[in-house]
Amino acid sequence: MKYISTRGRTPAQSFEEVLLTGLAPDGGLFVPESVPKVDRATMLSWKNLGYAELAFEIIRLYTGDSIADEDLRTIVDETYAVFSDPEVAPLHKLGEQEYVLELFHGPTLAFKDFALQLLGRLLDYFLARRQKHVAILGATSGDTGSAAMEGCRHCEFVDMYILYPHNRVSEVQRRQMTTIQGSNVNSLAVEGNFDDCQTIVKKAFSDQGFLPEGYQLVAVNSINFSRIMAQIVYYYFAALKFVDNNEAVSFSVPTGNFGDIYAGYLAKQMGLPIDRLIIATNKNDILHRFMSRNQYNLEQLEASLSPSMDIMVSSNFERYLFDLFDQDAHRVEAFVTGLNQDVQQVSDQEWERAKAVFDSCRVDDETTCETIRDVFDQYNYLLDPHTATGVKAARECRAGSKNPVICLATAHPAKFSEAIEKAGLATPALPDHLADLMQREERFTVLPSSLDAVKAFIQDSLKDAQ
Ligand SMILES: *Cc1c(COP(=O)(O)O)cnc(C)c1O
Repeated sequence: MKYISTRGRTPAQSFEEVLLTGLAPDGGLFVPESVPKVDRATMLSWKNLGYAELAFEIIRLYTGDSIADEDLRTIVDETYAVFSDPEVAPLHKLGEQEYVLELFHGPTLAFKDFALQLLGRLLDYFLARRQKHVAILGATSGDTGSAAMEGCRHCEFVDMYILYPHNRVSEVQRRQMTTIQGSNVNSLAVEGNFDDCQTIVKKAFSDQGFLPEGYQLVAVNSINFSRIMAQIVYYYFAALKFVDNNEAVSFSVPTGNFGDIYAGYLAKQMGLPIDRLIIATNKNDILHRFMSRNQYNLEQLEASLSPSMDIMVSSNFERYLFDLFDQDAHRVEAFVTGLNQDVQQVSDQEWERAKAVFDSCRVDDETTCETIRDVFDQYNYLLDPHTATGVKAARECRAGSKNPVICLATAHPAKFSEAIEKAGLATPALPDHLADLMQREERFTVLPSSLDAVKAFIQDSLKDAQ
């Protein structure tokens, strides 16, 4: 299995290289040269596998000969053993043909643990083999930071720097990052928004001369393909429960950077019977504007009650565009870079192709709270605000459909109490392992929104580490 860049100027790379760099050197994102196909008989033989067993079968298709089967099996087993639910990703029925897939039973209570617990272990495996140190630099709108730090705080060969928008993540999210024990992890509060953080990260990656000799940066936000790979597994895990009835399921996905739903798109390409993929956005609705009007343009970022979806631009959309443009890297680059000047559009034919796979729905804060309230009243089940956008989008887009729709529950409601309280409901308690979070001591550094400030911080810190 080889990976190519969406910008077309990087030679094909192995999985190991892709994991260890994240962003391609030409500024593009790595995608598989060709998506592995899984025939129906093989898929059916996976039906009764436990989560880790299924993860092994799917992930080995993407890691290729970078890692021996027995090593991968051990890593995957250890990864999903830390999840608190024995099923790892339990499916919960709400109404008729309406389900939520609970992806919040990992250490930091969001779906990002599925990928980042794996990524930490894979990094350690490859870096130990090479006896090489790396610095991880990442931007987070909240959940990635803590999940990445939890995934890597034991890594011997990794130092980590996580940027997050100062005062724009929930208190629980901030504390989950700033209270993590581990001298190799650093929380950096940037005086800006998430896109500012992301821009600094991108610039640092394209100019790594500031790092000490021998070091390189690794990206762990969803531009790292290994994260997408890990997320494909739960689409299979959930949909396999319905294959007997020959029912194609739809998935509704609370979407920000388009990483999670792109994993669903790959699952569909692999052969999983998926009917529709529903993009749920909050009021930061660039993807909904594209799907509903064929207009892809920048608008002011607005803080919402579902902060992990507060983005102006969805980085992973580039991976989908590469496919939509039949791997024409020039067009991808023109579309993505042209966004800073003009509204971007695709041809009518391409737009129709996109609409044949994706539905979309924009859910504002008020409707999010209403949905939390409605679902609680109807089913005595508490949704977090991100998941609520997904449930609402599913109801809007699939009204009248007979096929099951599975809404990805991307976070535990206790992480986002503000929305729950606004919905008029009592704040849920944090699970036991985080019960004393509000009493733990915090450690973080506030930095101006500037590339130089971030570079200087990393330089100093790596000097101390040496
Ligand atoms: C990250 C995140 C999302 C958005 O996922 P993308 O892969 O960026 O589209 C949605 N909900 C929660 C809770 C998240 O943490």
